[in-house]
Amino acid sequence: MALFLFLFLIGCEKANEVENPAPDSPFLVILGTAQDAGYPQAGYQDEWKAIDLGQRKPLYTVALGLVDPKNNIRYLFEATPDFKEQLQMLDEVSTTDNYPFDGIFLTHAHIGHYAGLMHLGKEVMGTSSVPVFAMPKMKTFLEENGPWSQLVKLNNISLKPTQDSTLLELSGGISVMPFTVPHRDEYSETVGYKIQVQNQSVVFIPDIDKWNKWDVDIREVVKANDLILIDASFYQDGELKGRDMSLIPHPFTKESMELFKDLSEADKTKVYFIHANHTNPILDINSAEYEEVIKVGFHIAEQGQIFSFDQ
Ligand SMILES: [Zn+2]
Ligand SMILES: [Zn+2]
Repeated sequence: MALFLFLFLIGCEKANEVENPAPDSPFLVILGTAQDAGYPQAGYQDEWKAIDLGQRKPLYTVALGLVDPKNNIRYLFEATPDFKEQLQMLDEVSTTDNYPFDGIFLTHAHIGHYAGLMHLGKEVMGTSSVPVFAMPKMKTFLEENGPWSQLVKLNNISLKPTQDSTLLELSGGISVMPFTVPHRDEYSETVGYKIQVQNQSVVFIPDIDKWNKWDVDIREVVKANDLILIDASFYQDGELKGRDMSLIPHPFTKESMELFKDLSEADKTKVYFIHANHTNPILDINSAEYEEVIKVGFHIAEQGQIFSFDQ
């Protein structure tokens, strides 16, 4: 049974535009597609100029919204530095009785994945008990380090412990399961998520070291699920001039495509690359690399794109 990619594509003029109207059934919305630092990145004049000239669009850091319209429920995956824009995007297509979210799921303690929690504090929204789902080390990191510890003390957020490979049943037939993946775990462990609605499932792995460091075969994950959103930080080796890229391992987009080359066409179409660094040419829809990825049967996630779960 396939997941229904009502791919409502884009072409939005505003960066924070979401395809509208949203479906009546549960859906996922892509709130950002870039690596932690977004696009354009701080200090890169060429990138800012490309935005000014209308050649490129600003792209937010990777985040997903999971919406259950019937029950007025919505969840956020990742609290990014672009939190306020992403909340605005989600407000355009969904509502909740527990503003701003019924829950926030975090993957790990790298800046692009949790720093947006700052908007929940007293300097900004001053929220009350927003459920934040976190693994043990991530939870301790937030509890023991300012300014995050203040969010806990003032009850702006309410930390909900999660465990590796343990399913969380949410309402409306939705369940979420974190699973650990190998990554540079300086402050916390790192997880991906399996999001299940009825019998359809999406796997989200924004950050991981090389595929061969994981004790799971990603090809089997592709086969067993309906949609896969995976780490495409860099296109290929040598992309970061003057930096030793072995110190920041990620599966190169080219390596992933090579690894997946014998998958069926149907399995290939489930693969969406996401979390692209500002240097990865797939962020530019006019690049030869973007065209190559599409030509061989894969997808590149688009900001504002909606995936609807069939009901
Ligand atoms: Zn990241
Ligand atoms: Zn990371």
